[in-house]
Amino acid sequence: MAKRIVDVLIPVALDHGYSYRVPDELELAPGDLVRVPLGTRECTGVVWADSTTPNLRLDNRLKDVAAKLDTPPLRPELRRFVDWVSGYTLSPRGMVTRMALRMGENLGPERLQVGIRLAGPPPERMTAARGRVLCLLADGLARGKSDVSHEVGVSIGVINGLIDEGTLEVLELPRTPVASAPDSTYAVPDFNAAQAEAAVALREAVRNGFSVTLLDGVTGSGKTEVYFEAVAEAIAHRRQSLILMPEIALTGQFLDRFAARFGVRPAEWHSQLNPRRRSRTWHAVAAGAVSVVAGARSALFLPYADLGLIVVDEEHDPAYKQDDGVHYHARDMAVVRGHIAKIPVVLASATPSIETEVNARRGRYRRLHLPERFGGASLPATEVIDLTREGPPRGRFVAPRLAEAMQIALERGEQALLFLNRRGYAPLTLCRACGFRFSCPNCDAWLVDHRFRRQLVCHHCGFFTPRLPSCPKCQASDSFVACGPGVERLEEEAAALFPNARIRVLSSDLIATAEHMREELKEITEGLVDIIIGTQLVAKGHHFPKLNLVGIVDADLGLNNGDPRAAERTFQLLHQVAGRAGRETGRGIGYLQTHQPQHPVMRAIVAGDREAFYVAEIAARERAHYPPFGRLASLIISGPDRPSAEGFARRLAGAAPSVAAARVLGPAEAPIAVIRGRHRFRLLAKAARSCDLSGYLRGWLACGPKVEGGVKLEVDVDPVSFL
Ligand code: ADP
Ligand code: ZN
Ligand code: ZN
Repeated sequence: MAKRIVDVLIPVALDHGYSYRVPDELELAPGDLVRVPLGTRECTGVVWADSTTPNLRLDNRLKDVAAKLDTPPLRPELRRFVDWVSGYTLSPRGMVTRMALRMGENLGPERLQVGIRLAGPPPERMTAARGRVLCLLADGLARGKSDVSHEVGVSIGVINGLIDEGTLEVLELPRTPVASAPDSTYAVPDFNAAQAEAAVALREAVRNGFSVTLLDGVTGSGKTEVYFEAVAEAIAHRRQSLILMPEIALTGQFLDRFAARFGVRPAEWHSQLNPRRRSRTWHAVAAGAVSVVAGARSALFLPYADLGLIVVDEEHDPAYKQDDGVHYHARDMAVVRGHIAKIPVVLASATPSIETEVNARRGRYRRLHLPERFGGASLPATEVIDLTREGPPRGRFVAPRLAEAMQIALERGEQALLFLNRRGYAPLTLCRACGFRFSCPNCDAWLVDHRFRRQLVCHHCGFFTPRLPSCPKCQASDSFVACGPGVERLEEEAAALFPNARIRVLSSDLIATAEHMREELKEITEGLVDIIIGTQLVAKGHHFPKLNLVGIVDADLGLNNGDPRAAERTFQLLHQVAGRAGRETGRGIGYLQTHQPQHPVMRAIVAGDREAFYVAEIAARERAHYPPFGRLASLIISGPDRPSAEGFARRLAGAAPSVAAARVLGPAEAPIAVIRGRHRFRLLAKAARSCDLSGYLRGWLACGPKVEGGVKLEVDVDPVSFL
């Protein structure tokens, strides 16, 4: 009899699965996880479907499925999601599957936790050490072997002796679960009227299948408390919830707030989990043993046993876009996953993305509005400091008016935050004598001076070199000038201005681990720091009770970079940063240092007129047919040299099918023309909203030139970065 053949999707860059024969004794269904031979090794894959290729049955070269894994199958809903994401992003299905299979395979069996407890008569020979052990275990409870040895200060040998004599017995201790069950009624807050109304609406949404709700609330309005009600409803229905956050926002502070509401912390999912924890979490989520996951974007691809709710916190955050491998936007894909699974999606923000805002205005998303800060605190006032008129002295970056305000805040015992979205000491170092500038040998970029690390660093490829004593071109010594500020330079200036202040710099390159970040944030929250100097790391979601003053050192940074979302980004970032001020006292103030006080973004921020910004920006997007009024996709071509990259880009552009609904622009050399030694060109496909842009791209690439000679093509549908 002919054997059954199945297509198994393997987590590699392939769109289609490989066919395998199913041994008679194996019962397999789509979604099952299996081990299959691949070349000389064995790997984990997913049974995607029965094979539809008829002739295969006779093919003797087909290999057998080696084994079925003892894990719940990937549910149809997740497989459909994988198919959808792969089709939309033009990423091979295997690569998307790989995101769903990040469960840390091949870790081997987990080490058992061995426990001991009292089981028999006392030993014939008693010693002091033995006495201490027996005294501790007299209550009959089981304890970890090494814990006991530590606690009473005896060697493992002493304990083993007692086991040999039958006084103690060995048993396997249950593993501590990935997360304990949250209690939906543990500590329900007293809501104000707007919060209560939103909470009721969210609870209702959780009972009613697919919907998208924009939880639109000013900073400090209690969005978190309110969407926790949706989570509580899902818990009460014994369904799982996913709370997505921009990676860095996943702080201890958030986990503690969750615990304050539900009694326990949620399970975490982010890039810093160690492989063992990752694996345990993955399996617990699949088994339905985890109720709530708080995670970064990749948590969207976990194999939930029964997902009932997705919350996307800070939905406007660009960190939701993944820009390597599979280019996907987690907020958009959350809506897709919600739609497929027929569950509600909640998007929370104080400054919704234009895309979400338009959806809310058109009634496609429901808007729940929290117009006020909780407890009646008023929103921070914002003042402009016109750098063309009242800028700081040369070589300094804090204007006198801002410095004065900081002085007053410090005297009151309050905190001040200086925000500058630039890591390191200075973005450019040049030689005063000959004009030489330090640039990266691999990239089209200046090297950034990182004095703390004593290195010049490329922010694109990571290249670094020690700081030199003399100019490599003219040999002049002491001739280097730092141009422009970074947070480290700002720290120097703040220390000179406020010699008694306790200053802390928060920048991703200075913070090694999530744990470290949590400690830093905790110290700030507890008031152990007077001046915080930070990059966008500080913009997100943190609650610093003693912070009343925020100074934005360079509000123009990022406005003029040719990115169609530059104005939106700047507005969101400035609003978010200023919103850190006065969350408790209501006396917050933000200072915006800018060269363009008349820019619509600055005016909207200072006037506190969010509506003016949205009206203007939405109109501008509509005029230009930019998202969400049109569709965009970038094609990034890179090659080992300029001609090969440019040549391929031209041939590719030439092969673009001409249709009415889509246009192809370029090729143009990328703004960062070289990264890691690869020369880069970009094409931009622009299409009407009604156009199936992914389908168009697929048709184009199928008939276009094939990549060769080290040229690489990346497709980025709905691009967020244009560099
Ligand atoms: P947002 O996310 O909207 O900026 P948060 O959810 O962080 O606001 O809330 C701001 C602060 O107000 C937090 O310290 C939060 O604990 C507190 N808060 C909000 N709503 C309530 C409430 N109903 N009862 C008690 N505290 C609340
Ligand atoms: Zn020189
Ligand atoms: Zn570089």
